[in-house]
Formats: sequence, structure tokens, C-alpha cells
Amino acid sequence: MNFVAEPGFCSECGSILPDLGSSGGVTCYTCKKEYGPEVFGAMETSYIVHFNNLDDYAAVKAKKKEQKMQDDEAAGPVVERKCPKCNNDKMSYTTLQLRSADEGQTIFFTCTKCKYKETENS
Ligand SMILES: [Zn+2]
Ligand SMILES: [Zn+2]
Repeated sequence: MNFVAEPGFCSECGSILPDLGSSGGVTCYTCKKEYGPEVFGAMETSYIVHFNNLDDYAAVKAKKKEQKMQDDEAAGPVVERKCPKCNNDKMSYTTLQLRSADEGQTIFFTCTKCKYKETENS
């Protein structure tokens, strides 16, 4: 398959290109190659590409949601920490870096016994 012949697709990596930006060009999400507006070709082609993008967007969103649910259930490393609810002395934890490094990270503790959750900002 020749990617160059497909308007709306990246000729470098074959990814579907995002919609035209305000600059009139577009940058491939995958390999960061930049294109001018001519990459989309005829109007009806760009309509189909746009439609495909929406489908992809929904699929990616659903996958991210699924991933997040799995993360919530996954037991991280266990530390000695007293559960305020059931007095169990072991809780598993996961960390999440928020926005920028300046703002530190949030630690999520989950009681290994009763699944009580608490968070702590470091
Ligand atoms: Zn690309
Ligand atoms: Zn507990």
C-alpha cells in the first residue's frame, strides 16, 4: 500500500492525520511530520477522513477508560500504613504525577483488607 496516494493519511507512518489546525496545516500525531492543507485533497475525501477520525477518537477514549478501571483495581506496592477504617496495618499504594513536576505527586493508598481509599499529596 502506498500511503502517499491516500489524502488525510501520513505518508511517513500511515496514521490518520488530525483535522486542519488554525495555521492551515496539520501535524501527524504519531511521527510529528507536518503537512500543508493540500494533504486532504478533495472535499469528499476529507469528509470520509473526518468521519474515520471520530470513530478512532471514540475507540481511543473507550480504551483509555478501560485502562483506568484496570489501574484502579490493580494492587500496587504494599506499605505499612494503618487503615483509618478497619485498623488493618497494610495498604497498597499507587502514585500519580499531577500536571507538572512543581506540583508534586498524589499518592493513592488502598487498604488491602477493606479497600478503603485515601489520598496524600506530597
Ligand atoms: Zn506520521
Ligand atoms: Zn481497611
